[in-house]
Amino acid sequence: MKILQRLIDNLRKFPSVGPKQAERFAIHILKASDKEIDELLSSIVEIRKNIKSCNKCNNYTLDDVCEICRDEKREKKICLVETPFDLISIEKTKSYNGRYFILGGNLVPVSNNDDFSLKIDKLKKIVANDSIEEVIIALDATTEGQITSLYVKKALSEINVKISQIAYGVPLGADIDYLDSFTLSHAIKKRTLFDKD
Ligand SMILES: [Zn+2]
Repeated sequence: MKILQRLIDNLRKFPSVGPKQAERFAIHILKASDKEIDELLSSIVEIRKNIKSCNKCNNYTLDDVCEICRDEKREKKICLVETPFDLISIEKTKSYNGRYFILGGNLVPVSNNDDFSLKIDKLKKIVANDSIEEVIIALDATTEGQITSLYVKKALSEINVKISQIAYGVPLGADIDYLDSFTLSHAIKKRTLFDKD
């Protein structure tokens, strides 16, 4: 049936969804009540319509500036992460009470340098305007992540801010958002301070 195949093909576009799983999802959609499907569709439409990127940290938000950036009780620190999911993982550890800045996949070797420079310029402005005392680099322990960390360290060295990097008691190649809270919490606490050249 063409219409069913179309649904399966669309479901297969989701990350890690294989043909069998797409079929199971399609069957679930066919069997679900109208109420369940309406709820699913309206949640998709609503999030697509209302979600935007925080003007400061690039996190997902419904407002111009996200709740974390608006929270005046947060310490004057910025944790630099690659994705909003890394932010969620670090928030879950409850071992960090500063703000964030999301690079959004703008890692040096995989992005064009303009995107990266724009993001770093934005970060520098925020650090200066909001009197940020420390930038903690928490990028993945991959080659791209580590090269990016060095670039960021160099770019920030001209302004007056402490720069540190989380400690990696984790295997090289691991994604931040796959770490368990204990490992991640330990890595944040044991971050190392970059020497100013
Ligand atoms: Zn924000």
